[in-house]
Amino acid sequence: MAFENYEVWFVTGAQLLYGGDAVIAVDGHSTEMVNGLNNSGNLPVKVVYKGTANSSREVTDVMKAANNDPRCIGVITWMHTFSPAKMWIHGLQQLNKPLLHLHTQYNAEIPWDTMDMDFMNLNQSAHGDREFGHICTRMRIRRKVVVGYWKDADTQHKIAVWMRVCAGWADAQDMLIVRFGDQMNNVAVTDGDKVEAEQRMGYHVDYCPVSELMEYQKRVEATDVDALVAEYFRLYDHDAILEDKSTEEYRKVWNSARAELAIRALLKDKGAKGFTTNFDDLGDVDPESPNCFDQIPGLASQRLMAEGYGFGAEGDWKSAALYRTVWVMNQGLPTGCSFLEDYTLNFDGANSSILQSHMLEICPLIAANRPRLEVHFLGIGVRKTPTARLVFTSKVGKGCTATVVDLGNRFRLIVNDVECIEPKPLPKLPVASALWIPMPNFEVGAGAWILAGGTHHSCFSYDLTAEYWEDYAEIAGIEMVHIHKDTTISEFKKELRMNEVYYMLNKALC
Ligand code: MN
Repeated sequence: MAFENYEVWFVTGAQLLYGGDAVIAVDGHSTEMVNGLNNSGNLPVKVVYKGTANSSREVTDVMKAANNDPRCIGVITWMHTFSPAKMWIHGLQQLNKPLLHLHTQYNAEIPWDTMDMDFMNLNQSAHGDREFGHICTRMRIRRKVVVGYWKDADTQHKIAVWMRVCAGWADAQDMLIVRFGDQMNNVAVTDGDKVEAEQRMGYHVDYCPVSELMEYQKRVEATDVDALVAEYFRLYDHDAILEDKSTEEYRKVWNSARAELAIRALLKDKGAKGFTTNFDDLGDVDPESPNCFDQIPGLASQRLMAEGYGFGAEGDWKSAALYRTVWVMNQGLPTGCSFLEDYTLNFDGANSSILQSHMLEICPLIAANRPRLEVHFLGIGVRKTPTARLVFTSKVGKGCTATVVDLGNRFRLIVNDVECIEPKPLPKLPVASALWIPMPNFEVGAGAWILAGGTHHSCFSYDLTAEYWEDYAEIAGIEMVHIHKDTTISEFKKELRMNEVYYMLNKALC
């Protein structure tokens, strides 16, 4: 149900050369194929058949309509017969939605005993899809090419991946990220060009004074806070002392719930899809003032992330936006996603790994077990005081983490396959964490990430693979480098150097 307001359009290429019977057959086959795709249960977004395009005028009309329909998040094209590609030029010049070119065929096998010239002329995707591919390449049209029989689960999976990316992309085109406070002072990697980010990736990043957030906090009703605290106690394991209203622990949980209600109310009012915080900017300096948070709103950030709000710590708006896109693409998939930070290394030979954590803000969607609500002292930032947080360790298993950095002349998407492993017990660590080995191993994975200029913050998912990110980079038109099981440092350095030249020459992408 997550993508029920979206649709992907299916346009079949043909021409009138083969007569009226052929046109009717092409239309019938296309309808059957679109129904088959929709009934497969493998596609997250509904496919809508938009008919055959037999002329330049028809192609242009359908592409313009795709641009103007907010439900349409992408267009699939397939050439049933030969479709002379000059007729696609004007339409492709106009199309501003993601494009998938499906190279398939109505029938799986050649009907060896009966095939005649009419059948061969009608079923010539082998031929027509090459003509279409040529014009896309000549026009430098960015697209995903999926090759395979349309009934095969592998083919449908590739389409499904692209659909989820299209949904993430569509969501980003009206994404507002609100920054409470600025970047953490002096930090380079989380900063960047917000104007260029809006042009390239769609999202808009605005500043919101913490004083405005405090106006929301003042309006939060105590009864609503009480109800939310009761919900916390229902949802999460916790010590009994947290429920004792005479304790500081209870007061800290209560303050965290009030912060959550204030932030959510502001985000809803502004129509924002994500936010950033900064531990040096929590409102009034006096912690007893009603116009401040008593500590960074970590529990709120954890819970809002699970709800789908983008989050970046220390003013990291690029991570907030990317996390929101990850969450959208990840909807309905089983294992979850989170904002994470490379915190501490564990040297252990071939199993050397990186502990992923943060001061507080890890999304509970990746928790292996029911999270535990705890109150602990936190001494970073303007406040030195205890605060509530959800503590857990992550599931084990393969995943993929991603970040976007601003290289000055372009954005680079860096993707690393990782494997989350079982940590040893961490009885004194008062925050959530994950422990992973970056592929192909710690030395090469971390080395390549550092050479690429990657952040210490990243957006992680168990369910999304590098294929999603490849589709995303293709749609956005940004550089992507992928660190995987076969990566070597020397080959990776060559790729970085080649990309430097490519993007310098290809000014349209910089
Ligand atoms: Mn951080």
